[in-house]
Amino acid sequence: MRNSILISLLCFTLLCTGCTTESTSIENSLDSSINTITNNNENSATRDLFAMDTYMNLTAYGSNAEQAVDKAVSCINDLDKLLSTGLKTSEISQLNDSGNMILSSDASIILENSIKLYDNTNGAFNPLMYPIMEAWGFPTKEYKVPEEDELKQLLTLTDMSNLKYKNSTGEVSFNLSGMKVDFGGIAKGYTSSKVRDCFISSGVTSGIISLGGNVQAIGKKPDGSMWRVGVQNPDSEGNILGVLKIQDKAVITSGGYERYFEQDGKTYHHIIDPSTGMPADSGLTSVTIISDNGTLADGLSTALFVMGLEKASDYWRDHYEEFDAVFFTDDKKLYITEGIQENFSSDYTWNTIDKEY
Ligand code: ADP
Ligand code: MG
Repeated sequence: MRNSILISLLCFTLLCTGCTTESTSIENSLDSSINTITNNNENSATRDLFAMDTYMNLTAYGSNAEQAVDKAVSCINDLDKLLSTGLKTSEISQLNDSGNMILSSDASIILENSIKLYDNTNGAFNPLMYPIMEAWGFPTKEYKVPEEDELKQLLTLTDMSNLKYKNSTGEVSFNLSGMKVDFGGIAKGYTSSKVRDCFISSGVTSGIISLGGNVQAIGKKPDGSMWRVGVQNPDSEGNILGVLKIQDKAVITSGGYERYFEQDGKTYHHIIDPSTGMPADSGLTSVTIISDNGTLADGLSTALFVMGLEKASDYWRDHYEEFDAVFFTDDKKLYITEGIQENFSSDYTWNTIDKEY
């Protein structure tokens, strides 16, 4: 639902020329040259596709651009077939049905990253949330609010000590029947990293990938300047919180506004607090992570959303070499971490989170 709107907006902020919308002055100064370059430069290729329930756009520059983009599209489709929980024949569906499996190398890498994130975030990122997602009706879009007792029971299936995994063989098994893996919080970040690798191995040194809320930049723009990525304002479609200038980085946003339903006047979104089974109510409306590592950025965008501003800031202070972040709170305050202040601009006032208190 709004996920797709957000995606078009990100594509808009990255790619559109001459779109009319309620723009801030920042938005007007965003990259609008990309389309022009794409159209006029024969050494470039761009593709739109829909995969992983997401509108995606890939653009590559250079002599191998066409080949790189073709390879990337087939890489995305392969990963979608492997990881989709909605596809009965996917590796993840088979694991969820049978409770044991020898994972492919892609699924192994994602699971290893998920386990690491679970440990590092004190369980705020949990790759076993699928039974809870099902109870809320997110996979089928037949939404409902589960009973407290049902959630309590299902939470036992998200206990990571009941997942056995052998790094050396990729063998995974569940101790309890009904346990199910869900890579929805990390798979697109992994995919954007794979597409970057795909571009680079094809000799592409300049490109931009937008997988819905997930952006990955390869190098700089063909004119040598940095890519400019708009951070969506959760409160106002077509409006942005600010602009990040990046090179060779992933910029990944998680927000409750991306996928949600309403019942009896209440809104329920898709980022679940693993300690309660309820949509996370941490005081944050959106979290954007900027990192060299797309997989990490995606996992952290979900985990830091669950943690809330204070814990997320402390987490950043312990890991500031790995990522930076932009936070937007329920009470409409904007925060950015110190490491990106030189490359962030906004019409709004913001607070900087420093390494030292
Ligand atoms: P999006 O899918 O919109 O990019 P996220 O990266 O924030 O958003 O991931 C949200 C998805 O991650 C949910 O749809 C669900 O599949 C899964 N998920 C929900 N809560 C958690 C959690 N606490 N830890 C890990 N994955 C989660
Ligand atoms: Mg995520």
